[in-house]
Amino acid sequence: MGLADKKKKPAPAEPQIVLPPLEFKPKGANKGESDGIMIASRQLPGFPVITQLLAFAMLEHADIVMLDYAQNGVMVRFRVDGLPEVKPPMEREPGDAALIALKKLAGLNPMDRRSKQEAKLGFHFAKEDWIAEIVTQGVPTGERVMIRIEPKKTKLKSLDDIGMRSKLQETWRAALNDTGGIVIVSGPPGHGFPTTWRVSLEAADKFVRDFVSVEDKAKAEPEIINVAPNTFDAAAGETPMTVLKRLVLKQPDVYVIPDFVNDDTAKFIINELTVENRHCITRMGATDAVEAYCKFLAQHKALAPQLIKLVKSVINVRLVRRLCDNCKQGFQPNPQMLQRLGLPPDRVKTLYQPYIPPPPEQRVDANGKPIEIPICRRCKGRGYFGRIGIFEVLTIDDQFRKAAMQNPTPDFLRQVAKKLGHKSFQEEGLLAAVVGHTSLQELQRVLAPATKPAGR
Ligand SMILES: [Zn+2]
Repeated sequence: MGLADKKKKPAPAEPQIVLPPLEFKPKGANKGESDGIMIASRQLPGFPVITQLLAFAMLEHADIVMLDYAQNGVMVRFRVDGLPEVKPPMEREPGDAALIALKKLAGLNPMDRRSKQEAKLGFHFAKEDWIAEIVTQGVPTGERVMIRIEPKKTKLKSLDDIGMRSKLQETWRAALNDTGGIVIVSGPPGHGFPTTWRVSLEAADKFVRDFVSVEDKAKAEPEIINVAPNTFDAAAGETPMTVLKRLVLKQPDVYVIPDFVNDDTAKFIINELTVENRHCITRMGATDAVEAYCKFLAQHKALAPQLIKLVKSVINVRLVRRLCDNCKQGFQPNPQMLQRLGLPPDRVKTLYQPYIPPPPEQRVDANGKPIEIPICRRCKGRGYFGRIGIFEVLTIDDQFRKAAMQNPTPDFLRQVAKKLGHKSFQEEGLLAAVVGHTSLQELQRVLAPATKPAGR
């Protein structure tokens, strides 16, 4: 491809683009074998193609690269900050070559294009180590490849790192470090739920109190400093009780139990909390805190009255894209708009929106001549860069408990929570918008479907 083409559309696979170096770290049985894989892979025609594709994905901050092989070509998609983006397709020949090199590097069988194959492949990019989790699988149209990219060492370690505002951190820490109660960490899939779980456990005070966790052997739970993991084998019919019977002798202060599994565990925890004043942290997949609370109670219907007395706090999380600090644009919101959002017009002078460059046909001067509008180097014209968590922390008081005893359903309890002054995602999101972390459009996109009030 010539230079003239390049100006028109800067495709990723073009060798002219200078990308920062990406260095694969294939894993053999020993160093000699690893070096051997590297030497052999480097000689493959697809090696530069896959290297550049991955470097391009890294430059675009993609965390998933999806390749769909069909008869006519290879569709390339990235996921950036939770949203899919279609990239210029590849032709079959370089696409196939790239996949052979990738499979070779990852220790997969390049000849097998039908079976599901999975592997992890380490690489070094921009002074950091990364892990690519690769899944390839034959599909009716050809083959599908998914590459999930993660930093080898997580950067999200504290409540600060995940974007929780400081006042809420105080509330949440107090809940985690309380005694005699149950705390529920909840979230929907794909919205930082596992990270919230891990970071919450990291944030709890584990130095003066003994934490034990009870986990299903088959589920990969994160390793947390000063939390002793104990596993049971659910596949073999074991339950948390299998290990709890033994653990109780150790007299731990806090039980971390991701999944209660059955009423026996709930009964055990009720006893430990009420008699021994111990604490328990558990988790629940749900779209908001109230739903998580109701789901937890519904799982142990017969014990609900006792559990209602014990559940003290529920957190839920939603990820929103963060406005790019380099190019976000402030605007003066009109008073009606602020009123509609429930924001004080005298306090909120500026809100922010993403800068989206005009489409090419509008990038012309008065004479219709194309003009060059610089694209933000940081966000590459997306207007957003990275994501932050919006957190809803439901602190349960006696009034809420009373309502839950009467009618433990999400719709009813959401209204009760609102009346009691609980800040929902909507309100937490607006706080993030007021300080310029995100935009109203983004809040609308992420929160609108889940927060539609029932019956309106
Ligand atoms: Zn930008």
